[in-house]
Amino acid sequence: MSDKPAADLAARARTTRVVVIGGGIAGLVAAWECARIGMPVTLLEQAPRLGGWIETDELDGITVDLAPEAFSLSAPALAGLLDELGLRAEVEPARDGSVGVALATPGGPRVVTLPPNRAGIPANVWAEPVRRLIGGRGVWRAYLDRLRPPLTIGRERSLGALVRSRMGAHVRDRLVAPLTLGTWAVDPDRIDVDLAVPGLSAALTRAGSLAGAVGQLLPDDDAEARRPRRARLRGGLTQLVTALTERLLLLDADLRVNVRADSLTQTPDGWLVHLAPADPAEPTGPAEPTDPAAAGEPAQPLPADIVVLAAGAATSAALVRDHGIVLEAAPLPVRDVVTLVMDAGTAAFDAPATIYPVPGAMAAASVIDVGSAWAGVRADAGPGRRVLRLTFDAAPADDATDLIARAAADAAQLWPGIGGVRAAAQRRATLAPPASVLGHAQRTAATRAAIGRRHGLIAVGEDLAGGGVSAIVADTLAEVERVRHEVLWGSF
Ligand SMILES: Cc1cc2nc3c(=O)[nH]c(=O)nc-3n(C[C@H](O)[C@H](O)[C@H](O)COP(=O)(O)OP(=O)(O)OC[C@H]3O[C@@H](n4cnc5c(N)ncnc54)[C@H](O)[C@@H]3O)c2cc1C
Repeated sequence: MSDKPAADLAARARTTRVVVIGGGIAGLVAAWECARIGMPVTLLEQAPRLGGWIETDELDGITVDLAPEAFSLSAPALAGLLDELGLRAEVEPARDGSVGVALATPGGPRVVTLPPNRAGIPANVWAEPVRRLIGGRGVWRAYLDRLRPPLTIGRERSLGALVRSRMGAHVRDRLVAPLTLGTWAVDPDRIDVDLAVPGLSAALTRAGSLAGAVGQLLPDDDAEARRPRRARLRGGLTQLVTALTERLLLLDADLRVNVRADSLTQTPDGWLVHLAPADPAEPTGPAEPTDPAAAGEPAQPLPADIVVLAAGAATSAALVRDHGIVLEAAPLPVRDVVTLVMDAGTAAFDAPATIYPVPGAMAAASVIDVGSAWAGVRADAGPGRRVLRLTFDAAPADDATDLIARAAADAAQLWPGIGGVRAAAQRRATLAPPASVLGHAQRTAATRAAIGRRHGLIAVGEDLAGGGVSAIVADTLAEVERVRHEVLWGSF
Protein backbone atom coordinates (compact mmCIF):
# COMPACT_ATOMS: atom_id res chain seq x y z
CA MET A 1 0.00 0.00 0.00
CA SER A 2 1.50 3.35 -1.03
CA ASP A 3 1.57 6.32 1.36
CA LYS A 4 1.13 8.90 -1.41
CA PRO A 5 -1.33 11.53 -0.26
CA ALA A 6 -4.71 11.71 -1.97
CA ALA A 7 -3.89 15.20 -3.27
CA ASP A 8 -0.91 13.83 -5.13
CA LEU A 9 -3.04 11.14 -6.73
CA ALA A 10 -5.68 13.69 -7.73
CA ALA A 11 -3.00 15.87 -9.31
CA ARG A 12 -1.69 12.88 -11.22
CA ALA A 13 -5.16 12.11 -12.49
CA ARG A 14 -5.65 15.72 -13.62
CA THR A 15 -2.50 15.57 -15.76
CA THR A 16 -3.22 12.16 -17.29
CA ARG A 17 -4.68 12.90 -20.71
CA VAL A 18 -6.98 10.20 -22.06
CA VAL A 19 -8.15 9.80 -25.65
CA VAL A 20 -10.89 7.22 -26.19
CA ILE A 21 -11.34 6.03 -29.77
CA GLY A 22 -14.91 4.83 -30.37
CA GLY A 23 -18.15 6.11 -28.89
CA GLY A 24 -20.05 2.83 -28.43
CA ILE A 25 -20.93 1.54 -24.98
CA ALA A 26 -17.35 0.39 -24.33
CA GLY A 27 -15.85 3.78 -25.21
CA LEU A 28 -18.45 5.70 -23.22
CA VAL A 29 -17.99 3.57 -20.10
CA ALA A 30 -14.20 3.81 -20.39
CA ALA A 31 -14.41 7.58 -20.84
CA TRP A 32 -16.65 7.97 -17.81
CA GLU A 33 -14.50 5.79 -15.60
CA CYS A 34 -11.50 7.98 -16.45
CA ALA A 35 -13.29 11.35 -16.35
CA ARG A 36 -14.92 10.71 -12.98
CA ILE A 37 -11.57 10.57 -11.22
CA GLY A 38 -10.46 13.83 -12.82
CA MET A 39 -8.61 12.67 -15.93
CA PRO A 40 -9.10 15.00 -18.91
CA VAL A 41 -10.87 12.88 -21.53
CA THR A 42 -11.44 13.33 -25.24
CA LEU A 43 -13.69 10.80 -26.96
CA LEU A 44 -13.67 10.40 -30.74
CA GLU A 45 -16.55 8.88 -32.68
CA GLN A 46 -16.50 8.65 -36.45
CA ALA A 47 -20.29 8.40 -36.81
CA PRO A 48 -22.63 11.37 -36.44
CA ARG A 49 -23.97 10.06 -33.12
CA LEU A 50 -22.74 8.27 -30.02
CA GLY A 51 -23.83 4.78 -29.00
CA GLY A 52 -22.37 2.52 -31.69
CA TRP A 53 -24.77 -0.38 -32.25
CA ILE A 54 -27.10 0.99 -29.58
CA GLU A 55 -29.81 2.94 -31.36
CA THR A 56 -33.36 3.75 -30.31
CA ASP A 57 -35.85 5.37 -32.64
CA GLU A 58 -39.54 6.07 -33.06
CA LEU A 59 -41.45 3.95 -35.55
CA ASP A 60 -45.07 4.91 -36.11
CA GLY A 61 -44.84 6.82 -32.82
CA ILE A 62 -43.55 3.80 -30.83
CA THR A 63 -40.12 4.03 -29.19
CA VAL A 64 -38.11 0.92 -30.09
CA ASP A 65 -34.53 -0.27 -30.06
CA LEU A 66 -33.29 -1.06 -33.54
CA ALA A 67 -30.49 -3.52 -32.67
CA PRO A 68 -29.45 -4.38 -29.08
CA GLU A 69 -32.38 -4.25 -26.73
CA ALA A 70 -32.17 -6.77 -23.89
CA PHE A 71 -29.71 -7.55 -21.14
CA SER A 72 -29.41 -10.15 -18.42
CA LEU A 73 -31.07 -9.34 -15.12
CA SER A 74 -28.25 -11.12 -13.30
CA ALA A 75 -25.33 -9.09 -14.66
CA PRO A 76 -23.89 -7.30 -11.59
CA ALA A 77 -21.62 -4.78 -13.36
CA LEU A 78 -24.37 -3.50 -15.63
CA ALA A 79 -26.84 -3.41 -12.73
CA GLY A 80 -24.34 -1.31 -10.75
CA LEU A 81 -23.85 1.06 -13.68
CA LEU A 82 -27.61 1.47 -14.13
CA ASP A 83 -27.90 2.27 -10.42
CA GLU A 84 -25.12 4.85 -10.58
CA LEU A 85 -26.70 6.48 -13.61
CA GLY A 86 -30.11 6.61 -11.93
CA LEU A 87 -31.65 4.28 -14.49
CA ARG A 88 -32.74 1.43 -12.21
CA ALA A 89 -36.36 2.61 -12.27
CA GLU A 90 -36.35 2.30 -16.06
CA VAL A 91 -35.46 -1.41 -16.04
CA GLU A 92 -38.38 -3.45 -17.37
CA PRO A 93 -38.19 -7.25 -16.99
CA ALA A 94 -39.48 -9.19 -19.98
CA ARG A 95 -43.15 -10.14 -19.71
CA ASP A 96 -42.59 -13.27 -21.79
CA GLY A 97 -39.25 -15.06 -21.84
CA SER A 98 -40.48 -18.08 -23.76
CA VAL A 99 -38.57 -19.26 -26.80
CA GLY A 100 -39.90 -21.21 -29.75
CA VAL A 101 -38.25 -23.11 -32.55
CA ALA A 102 -39.79 -22.92 -36.04
CA LEU A 103 -39.74 -26.18 -37.98
CA ALA A 104 -40.19 -26.45 -41.74
CA THR A 105 -43.45 -28.17 -42.69
CA PRO A 106 -45.20 -28.40 -46.07
CA GLY A 107 -47.75 -25.87 -44.80
CA GLY A 108 -45.09 -23.35 -43.71
CA PRO A 109 -43.15 -22.89 -40.48
CA ARG A 110 -44.60 -24.53 -37.36
CA VAL A 111 -43.53 -23.03 -34.03
CA VAL A 112 -42.92 -25.27 -31.03
CA THR A 113 -42.34 -23.64 -27.62
CA LEU A 114 -39.27 -25.07 -25.92
CA PRO A 115 -39.83 -26.76 -22.56
CA PRO A 116 -37.64 -25.66 -19.60
CA ASN A 117 -34.04 -25.97 -20.78
CA ARG A 118 -30.53 -24.61 -20.62
CA ALA A 119 -29.04 -23.54 -23.96
CA GLY A 120 -31.84 -25.55 -25.59
CA ILE A 121 -30.94 -28.80 -23.79
CA PRO A 122 -34.21 -30.09 -22.32
CA ALA A 123 -34.47 -31.39 -18.77
CA ASN A 124 -37.15 -33.86 -19.85
CA VAL A 125 -36.71 -35.56 -23.21
CA TRP A 126 -40.23 -37.02 -22.96
CA ALA A 127 -41.85 -33.57 -22.89
CA GLU A 128 -44.37 -33.20 -25.73
CA PRO A 129 -42.59 -30.23 -27.40
CA VAL A 130 -39.39 -32.31 -27.60
CA ARG A 131 -41.27 -35.10 -29.37
CA ARG A 132 -42.79 -32.57 -31.77
CA LEU A 133 -39.35 -31.22 -32.58
CA ILE A 134 -37.36 -34.44 -32.95
CA GLY A 135 -39.93 -37.22 -33.41
CA GLY A 136 -40.27 -40.49 -31.48
CA ARG A 137 -36.98 -41.97 -32.70
CA GLY A 138 -35.17 -38.77 -31.78
CA VAL A 139 -36.64 -38.95 -28.26
CA TRP A 140 -35.46 -42.55 -27.81
CA ARG A 141 -32.01 -41.55 -29.03
CA ALA A 142 -31.99 -38.63 -26.58
CA TYR A 143 -33.05 -41.01 -23.78
CA LEU A 144 -29.86 -43.07 -24.38
CA ASP A 145 -28.13 -40.17 -22.60
CA ARG A 146 -29.48 -41.64 -19.33
CA LEU A 147 -27.98 -45.03 -20.09
CA ARG A 148 -24.52 -43.90 -21.13
CA PRO A 149 -21.68 -43.58 -18.63
CA PRO A 150 -21.34 -40.05 -17.26
CA LEU A 151 -18.77 -37.92 -18.99
CA THR A 152 -17.23 -34.85 -17.50
CA ILE A 153 -17.42 -31.71 -19.59
CA GLY A 154 -13.72 -31.29 -18.98
CA ARG A 155 -13.29 -33.89 -21.70
CA GLU A 156 -15.80 -32.38 -24.12
CA ARG A 157 -16.02 -28.62 -24.03
CA SER A 158 -17.93 -28.10 -27.29
CA LEU A 159 -21.64 -27.61 -26.61
CA GLY A 160 -22.66 -29.00 -30.01
CA ALA A 161 -20.36 -32.02 -29.82
CA LEU A 162 -21.41 -32.83 -26.25
CA VAL A 163 -25.13 -32.70 -27.06
CA ARG A 164 -24.69 -34.70 -30.25
CA SER A 165 -22.68 -37.43 -28.54
CA ARG A 166 -25.02 -37.79 -25.56
CA MET A 167 -28.49 -36.99 -26.94
CA GLY A 168 -28.13 -37.35 -30.69
CA ALA A 169 -27.92 -35.04 -33.70
CA HIS A 170 -31.62 -34.13 -33.63
CA VAL A 171 -31.40 -32.49 -30.20
CA ARG A 172 -28.30 -30.62 -31.29
CA ASP A 173 -29.77 -29.52 -34.64
CA ARG A 174 -33.34 -28.70 -33.61
CA LEU A 175 -33.16 -27.51 -30.02
CA VAL A 176 -29.64 -26.22 -29.46
CA ALA A 177 -28.37 -24.96 -32.83
CA PRO A 178 -31.36 -22.70 -33.62
CA LEU A 179 -30.60 -20.71 -30.44
CA THR A 180 -26.88 -20.15 -31.01
CA LEU A 181 -27.29 -19.58 -34.74
CA GLY A 182 -30.30 -17.31 -34.28
CA THR A 183 -28.73 -15.21 -31.54
CA TRP A 184 -25.07 -15.09 -32.54
CA ALA A 185 -24.78 -16.74 -35.98
CA VAL A 186 -22.42 -19.18 -34.23
CA ASP A 187 -22.57 -22.96 -34.62
CA PRO A 188 -23.01 -24.75 -31.25
CA ASP A 189 -19.87 -26.77 -31.97
CA ARG A 190 -17.95 -23.50 -31.41
CA ILE A 191 -19.53 -22.77 -28.02
CA ASP A 192 -17.73 -23.65 -24.79
CA VAL A 193 -20.36 -25.47 -22.77
CA ASP A 194 -18.70 -24.60 -19.45
CA LEU A 195 -19.03 -20.89 -20.19
CA ALA A 196 -22.43 -21.05 -21.86
CA VAL A 197 -24.01 -23.10 -19.06
CA PRO A 198 -22.01 -22.57 -15.86
CA GLY A 199 -22.41 -25.44 -13.43
CA LEU A 200 -23.43 -28.01 -16.05
CA SER A 201 -20.17 -29.89 -15.74
CA ALA A 202 -20.53 -30.52 -12.01
CA ALA A 203 -24.24 -31.29 -12.42
CA LEU A 204 -23.47 -33.85 -15.14
CA THR A 205 -21.10 -35.65 -12.83
CA ARG A 206 -23.76 -35.69 -10.11
CA ALA A 207 -26.76 -36.55 -12.27
CA GLY A 208 -25.07 -38.96 -14.68
CA SER A 209 -26.92 -37.58 -17.72
CA LEU A 210 -27.14 -34.32 -19.60
CA ALA A 211 -30.91 -34.02 -19.24
CA GLY A 212 -30.59 -34.82 -15.54
CA ALA A 213 -27.87 -32.19 -15.18
CA VAL A 214 -30.08 -29.53 -16.78
CA GLY A 215 -32.86 -30.62 -14.43
CA GLN A 216 -30.56 -29.97 -11.48
CA LEU A 217 -29.76 -26.46 -12.74
CA LEU A 218 -33.38 -25.47 -13.29
CA PRO A 219 -35.48 -24.17 -10.41
CA ASP A 220 -37.85 -26.80 -8.97
CA ASP A 221 -40.82 -24.56 -9.50
CA ASP A 222 -41.97 -24.63 -13.14
CA ALA A 223 -43.17 -21.02 -13.03
CA GLU A 224 -39.78 -19.97 -11.67
CA ALA A 225 -38.04 -21.96 -14.44
CA ARG A 226 -40.03 -20.04 -17.04
CA ARG A 227 -39.51 -16.65 -15.38
CA PRO A 228 -37.85 -14.25 -17.85
CA ARG A 229 -34.22 -13.55 -17.05
CA ARG A 230 -33.86 -10.59 -19.40
CA ALA A 231 -34.79 -6.95 -19.20
CA ARG A 232 -34.74 -3.78 -21.26
CA LEU A 233 -34.76 -0.07 -20.49
CA ARG A 234 -38.08 1.69 -20.87
CA GLY A 235 -37.47 4.30 -23.51
CA GLY A 236 -34.73 2.18 -25.07
CA LEU A 237 -31.08 1.36 -24.47
CA THR A 238 -30.15 4.79 -25.81
CA GLN A 239 -31.05 6.05 -22.34
CA LEU A 240 -27.82 4.45 -21.18
CA VAL A 241 -25.91 6.35 -23.86
CA THR A 242 -27.68 9.60 -23.04
CA ALA A 243 -27.01 9.25 -19.30
CA LEU A 244 -23.31 8.54 -19.85
CA THR A 245 -23.05 11.43 -22.32
CA GLU A 246 -24.64 13.82 -19.85
CA ARG A 247 -22.30 12.72 -17.06
CA LEU A 248 -19.30 13.11 -19.34
CA LEU A 249 -20.33 16.61 -20.42
CA LEU A 250 -20.81 17.58 -16.77
CA LEU A 251 -17.23 16.45 -16.16
CA ASP A 252 -16.04 18.62 -19.08
CA ALA A 253 -15.10 15.67 -21.27
CA ASP A 254 -14.51 16.63 -24.89
CA LEU A 255 -16.90 14.48 -26.94
CA ARG A 256 -16.41 14.66 -30.69
CA VAL A 257 -18.62 13.04 -33.27
CA ASN A 258 -17.89 12.90 -37.01
CA VAL A 259 -14.21 12.55 -36.13
CA ARG A 260 -12.21 9.48 -37.07
CA ALA A 261 -8.98 8.44 -35.41
CA ASP A 262 -6.72 7.74 -38.34
CA SER A 263 -3.34 6.76 -36.89
CA LEU A 264 -1.22 6.81 -33.75
CA THR A 265 2.34 7.92 -33.20
CA GLN A 266 4.30 7.25 -30.06
CA THR A 267 6.16 10.22 -28.57
CA PRO A 268 8.74 10.30 -25.77
CA ASP A 269 6.01 11.15 -23.25
CA GLY A 270 2.95 9.40 -24.65
CA TRP A 271 0.92 9.25 -27.83
CA LEU A 272 -0.39 11.48 -30.60
CA VAL A 273 -3.77 10.51 -32.05
CA HIS A 274 -4.11 11.72 -35.63
CA LEU A 275 -7.57 12.60 -36.86
CA ALA A 276 -9.00 12.04 -40.31
CA PRO A 277 -11.11 14.64 -42.12
CA ALA A 278 -14.54 14.68 -40.58
CA ASP A 279 -17.60 13.13 -42.11
CA PRO A 280 -19.73 16.02 -43.43
CA ALA A 281 -22.93 14.48 -42.00
CA GLU A 282 -24.81 16.54 -39.43
CA PRO A 283 -24.23 15.48 -35.82
CA THR A 284 -27.36 13.92 -34.34
CA GLY A 285 -25.97 12.61 -31.06
CA PRO A 286 -28.07 12.24 -27.94
CA ALA A 287 -26.39 15.24 -26.30
CA GLU A 288 -24.44 17.99 -27.99
CA PRO A 289 -20.88 16.85 -28.46
CA THR A 290 -18.52 19.27 -30.14
CA ASP A 291 -17.51 18.80 -33.74
CA PRO A 292 -14.48 21.03 -34.39
CA ALA A 293 -13.71 19.64 -37.82
CA ALA A 294 -17.26 20.29 -39.01
CA ALA A 295 -16.83 23.85 -37.71
CA GLY A 296 -13.91 24.28 -40.11
CA GLU A 297 -11.09 24.03 -37.56
CA PRO A 298 -8.02 22.02 -38.57
CA ALA A 299 -7.95 18.60 -36.94
CA GLN A 300 -4.90 18.86 -34.68
CA PRO A 301 -3.41 15.57 -33.47
CA LEU A 302 -4.37 14.94 -29.87
CA PRO A 303 -1.69 14.22 -27.26
CA ALA A 304 -2.53 11.43 -24.84
CA ASP A 305 -0.98 9.59 -21.93
CA ILE A 306 -3.58 6.83 -22.26
CA VAL A 307 -5.21 5.79 -25.53
CA VAL A 308 -8.28 3.58 -25.15
CA LEU A 309 -9.02 1.55 -28.26
CA ALA A 310 -12.80 1.00 -28.22
CA ALA A 311 -13.61 1.04 -31.92
CA GLY A 312 -13.73 -2.65 -32.82
CA ALA A 313 -11.16 -5.23 -33.84
CA ALA A 314 -10.57 -3.97 -37.37
CA THR A 315 -9.90 -0.36 -36.28
CA SER A 316 -7.69 -1.46 -33.39
CA ALA A 317 -5.68 -3.74 -35.69
CA ALA A 318 -5.20 -0.94 -38.22
CA LEU A 319 -4.17 1.60 -35.57
CA VAL A 320 -1.53 -0.58 -33.92
CA ARG A 321 -0.10 -2.22 -37.05
CA ASP A 322 2.43 0.61 -37.54
CA HIS A 323 3.73 -0.11 -34.06
CA GLY A 324 4.69 -3.69 -34.79
CA ILE A 325 1.60 -5.17 -33.14
CA VAL A 326 -0.23 -7.68 -35.29
CA LEU A 327 -3.79 -8.29 -34.10
CA GLU A 328 -6.13 -10.89 -35.48
CA ALA A 329 -9.36 -9.30 -36.78
CA ALA A 330 -11.43 -12.28 -37.96
CA PRO A 331 -14.31 -11.46 -40.32
CA LEU A 332 -17.62 -11.31 -38.45
CA PRO A 333 -21.02 -12.57 -39.58
CA VAL A 334 -23.20 -9.81 -41.01
CA ARG A 335 -26.92 -9.63 -40.28
CA ASP A 336 -29.69 -7.41 -41.54
CA VAL A 337 -32.01 -6.37 -38.73
CA VAL A 338 -35.52 -5.31 -39.75
CA THR A 339 -37.90 -3.75 -37.24
CA LEU A 340 -41.52 -3.57 -38.37
CA VAL A 341 -44.65 -1.96 -37.04
CA MET A 342 -47.56 -3.83 -38.64
CA ASP A 343 -51.32 -3.67 -38.40
CA ALA A 344 -52.38 -6.54 -36.17
CA GLY A 345 -55.14 -7.52 -38.63
CA THR A 346 -56.99 -10.68 -37.67
CA ALA A 347 -53.91 -12.63 -36.58
CA ALA A 348 -53.81 -14.56 -33.30
CA PHE A 349 -50.57 -13.84 -31.46
CA ASP A 350 -50.10 -16.97 -29.40
CA ALA A 351 -46.51 -17.82 -30.40
CA PRO A 352 -43.62 -17.27 -27.98
CA ALA A 353 -41.97 -13.84 -27.97
CA THR A 354 -38.72 -15.14 -29.46
CA ILE A 355 -38.61 -17.61 -32.33
CA TYR A 356 -35.50 -19.23 -33.77
CA PRO A 357 -36.03 -21.20 -36.97
CA VAL A 358 -34.30 -24.47 -37.70
CA PRO A 359 -32.08 -23.45 -40.65
CA GLY A 360 -34.17 -23.47 -43.84
CA ALA A 361 -37.56 -23.26 -42.10
CA MET A 362 -37.89 -19.53 -42.82
CA ALA A 363 -35.92 -16.76 -44.46
CA ALA A 364 -35.28 -15.11 -41.07
CA ALA A 365 -32.58 -16.23 -38.64
CA SER A 366 -34.57 -14.93 -35.66
CA VAL A 367 -37.94 -13.33 -35.00
CA ILE A 368 -38.87 -11.31 -31.93
CA ASP A 369 -42.43 -10.27 -31.23
CA VAL A 370 -41.24 -7.14 -29.44
CA GLY A 371 -44.67 -6.28 -28.04
CA SER A 372 -45.07 -9.77 -26.55
CA ALA A 373 -41.63 -9.53 -24.97
CA TRP A 374 -42.10 -6.10 -23.37
CA ALA A 375 -45.20 -4.74 -21.66
CA GLY A 376 -44.12 -1.15 -22.38
CA VAL A 377 -43.96 -1.68 -26.13
CA ARG A 378 -47.24 -3.61 -26.05
CA ALA A 379 -48.92 -0.71 -24.25
CA ASP A 380 -47.52 1.83 -26.71
CA ALA A 381 -48.60 -0.23 -29.71
CA GLY A 382 -52.12 -0.92 -28.38
CA PRO A 383 -54.24 -3.80 -29.65
CA GLY A 384 -54.18 -2.70 -33.30
CA ARG A 385 -50.44 -2.79 -34.00
CA ARG A 386 -47.60 -5.30 -33.63
CA VAL A 387 -43.90 -4.52 -33.33
CA LEU A 388 -41.66 -7.26 -34.72
CA ARG A 389 -37.92 -7.58 -35.22
CA LEU A 390 -36.49 -10.07 -37.69
CA THR A 391 -32.85 -10.73 -38.55
CA PHE A 392 -31.49 -12.17 -41.79
CA ASP A 393 -28.07 -13.40 -42.81
CA ALA A 394 -26.98 -10.50 -45.01
CA ALA A 395 -26.47 -10.85 -48.73
CA PRO A 396 -24.68 -7.96 -50.48
CA ALA A 397 -27.44 -7.48 -53.06
CA ASP A 398 -30.25 -7.07 -50.53
CA ASP A 399 -31.62 -3.58 -50.13
CA ALA A 400 -33.94 -2.19 -47.47
CA THR A 401 -37.07 -2.58 -49.64
CA ASP A 402 -36.36 -6.28 -50.33
CA LEU A 403 -35.59 -6.95 -46.70
CA ILE A 404 -38.71 -5.25 -45.38
CA ALA A 405 -40.84 -7.22 -47.86
CA ARG A 406 -39.10 -10.46 -46.82
CA ALA A 407 -39.64 -9.67 -43.15
CA ALA A 408 -43.33 -8.93 -43.74
CA ALA A 409 -43.69 -12.21 -45.69
CA ASP A 410 -42.11 -14.19 -42.84
CA ALA A 411 -44.41 -12.44 -40.35
CA ALA A 412 -47.43 -13.36 -42.46
CA GLN A 413 -46.36 -17.02 -42.43
CA LEU A 414 -46.06 -17.03 -38.65
CA TRP A 415 -49.17 -14.96 -37.99
CA PRO A 416 -51.68 -15.53 -40.82
CA GLY A 417 -54.07 -12.59 -41.05
CA ILE A 418 -51.54 -9.97 -39.92
CA GLY A 419 -52.04 -6.61 -41.66
CA GLY A 420 -49.72 -4.38 -43.65
CA VAL A 421 -46.46 -2.66 -42.71
CA ARG A 422 -47.04 0.78 -41.16
CA ALA A 423 -43.39 1.66 -40.53
CA ALA A 424 -40.05 -0.10 -40.81
CA ALA A 425 -36.33 0.36 -40.16
CA GLN A 426 -33.46 -1.74 -41.43
CA ARG A 427 -29.88 -1.86 -40.13
CA ARG A 428 -26.96 -3.94 -41.40
CA ALA A 429 -24.75 -5.06 -38.51
CA THR A 430 -21.80 -7.27 -37.74
CA LEU A 431 -22.23 -9.72 -34.87
CA ALA A 432 -19.29 -10.16 -32.51
CA PRO A 433 -19.29 -13.69 -31.06
CA PRO A 434 -20.08 -14.14 -27.37
CA ALA A 435 -17.40 -14.68 -24.75
CA SER A 436 -18.49 -18.32 -24.59
CA VAL A 437 -16.99 -19.09 -28.02
CA LEU A 438 -14.18 -21.63 -27.69
CA GLY A 439 -10.78 -19.93 -27.59
CA HIS A 440 -12.22 -16.45 -26.93
CA ALA A 441 -10.48 -15.97 -23.57
CA GLN A 442 -7.12 -17.00 -25.03
CA ARG A 443 -7.54 -14.60 -27.98
CA THR A 444 -8.45 -11.75 -25.65
CA ALA A 445 -5.46 -12.48 -23.42
CA ALA A 446 -3.12 -12.62 -26.44
CA THR A 447 -4.50 -9.31 -27.80
CA ARG A 448 -4.13 -7.59 -24.45
CA ALA A 449 -0.64 -8.98 -23.97
CA ALA A 450 0.38 -7.64 -27.40
CA ILE A 451 -1.21 -4.21 -26.85
CA GLY A 452 0.03 -3.99 -23.28
CA ARG A 453 3.62 -4.07 -24.49
CA ARG A 454 3.08 -0.46 -25.55
CA HIS A 455 2.98 1.93 -22.61
CA GLY A 456 -0.36 3.74 -22.30
CA LEU A 457 -2.38 1.67 -24.75
CA ILE A 458 -5.45 -0.35 -23.73
CA ALA A 459 -8.26 -2.01 -25.64
CA VAL A 460 -11.90 -2.64 -24.70
CA GLY A 461 -15.11 -3.50 -26.54
CA GLU A 462 -17.08 -6.40 -27.90
CA ASP A 463 -14.15 -7.93 -29.74
CA LEU A 464 -12.40 -8.50 -26.39
CA ALA A 465 -15.28 -8.84 -23.93
CA GLY A 466 -17.50 -10.85 -26.28
CA GLY A 467 -20.64 -9.40 -27.84
CA GLY A 468 -23.29 -8.11 -25.44
CA VAL A 469 -23.72 -4.96 -23.42
CA SER A 470 -23.42 -6.57 -19.97
CA ALA A 471 -20.21 -8.44 -20.85
CA ILE A 472 -18.71 -5.25 -22.29
CA VAL A 473 -19.60 -3.13 -19.27
CA ALA A 474 -18.06 -5.67 -16.86
CA ASP A 475 -14.90 -6.07 -18.93
CA THR A 476 -14.45 -2.33 -19.54
CA LEU A 477 -14.84 -1.46 -15.86
CA ALA A 478 -12.25 -4.08 -14.92
CA GLU A 479 -9.79 -3.03 -17.61
CA VAL A 480 -10.05 0.69 -16.87
CA GLU A 481 -9.73 0.04 -13.15
CA ARG A 482 -6.52 -1.88 -13.82
CA VAL A 483 -5.07 0.97 -15.88
CA ARG A 484 -6.21 3.71 -13.51
CA HIS A 485 -4.51 1.86 -10.68
CA GLU A 486 -1.31 1.49 -12.66
CA VAL A 487 -1.30 5.15 -13.67
CA LEU A 488 -2.16 6.59 -10.29
CA TRP A 489 0.03 4.28 -8.27
CA GLY A 490 2.87 4.71 -10.62
CA SER A 491 3.63 1.44 -12.40
CA PHE A 492 2.13 2.14 -15.85
C1 LIG B 1 -28.23 -6.59 -34.36
C2 LIG B 1 -27.60 -6.66 -33.02
C3 LIG B 1 -28.39 -7.00 -31.92
C4 LIG B 1 -27.81 -7.07 -30.68
N1 LIG B 1 -28.60 -7.37 -29.61
C5 LIG B 1 -28.06 -7.33 -28.38
C6 LIG B 1 -28.89 -7.45 -27.23
O1 LIG B 1 -30.12 -7.58 -27.32
N2 LIG B 1 -28.29 -7.41 -26.02
C7 LIG B 1 -26.94 -7.19 -25.87
O2 LIG B 1 -26.45 -7.14 -24.73
N3 LIG B 1 -26.14 -7.04 -26.94
C8 LIG B 1 -26.67 -7.10 -28.18
N4 LIG B 1 -25.86 -6.90 -29.26
C9 LIG B 1 -24.42 -6.72 -29.05
C10 LIG B 1 -24.10 -5.30 -28.59
O3 LIG B 1 -24.92 -4.40 -29.23
C11 LIG B 1 -22.66 -4.98 -28.92
O4 LIG B 1 -21.81 -6.01 -28.46
C12 LIG B 1 -22.22 -3.64 -28.30
O5 LIG B 1 -23.16 -2.62 -28.53
C13 LIG B 1 -20.85 -3.27 -28.88
O6 LIG B 1 -20.35 -2.13 -28.23
P1 LIG B 1 -18.87 -1.59 -28.50
O7 LIG B 1 -18.73 -0.30 -27.82
O8 LIG B 1 -17.88 -2.66 -28.22
O9 LIG B 1 -18.79 -1.42 -30.09
P2 LIG B 1 -19.61 -0.46 -31.07
O10 LIG B 1 -21.00 -0.28 -30.62
O11 LIG B 1 -19.38 -1.04 -32.43
O12 LIG B 1 -18.85 0.94 -30.95
C14 LIG B 1 -17.63 1.18 -31.60
C15 LIG B 1 -17.68 2.59 -32.14
O13 LIG B 1 -16.39 2.94 -32.67
C16 LIG B 1 -16.59 3.78 -33.77
N5 LIG B 1 -15.37 3.80 -34.58
C17 LIG B 1 -14.88 2.80 -35.36
N6 LIG B 1 -13.71 3.19 -35.91
C18 LIG B 1 -13.46 4.44 -35.46
C19 LIG B 1 -12.39 5.36 -35.66
N7 LIG B 1 -11.33 5.05 -36.44
N8 LIG B 1 -12.45 6.57 -35.06
C20 LIG B 1 -13.50 6.90 -34.26
N9 LIG B 1 -14.55 6.05 -34.04
C21 LIG B 1 -14.51 4.83 -34.62
C22 LIG B 1 -17.80 3.18 -34.46
O14 LIG B 1 -18.43 4.11 -35.32
C23 LIG B 1 -18.67 2.77 -33.27
O15 LIG B 1 -19.59 3.78 -32.93
C24 LIG B 1 -26.42 -6.82 -30.51
C25 LIG B 1 -25.64 -6.46 -31.62
C26 LIG B 1 -26.22 -6.37 -32.85
C27 LIG B 1 -25.37 -5.93 -34.01
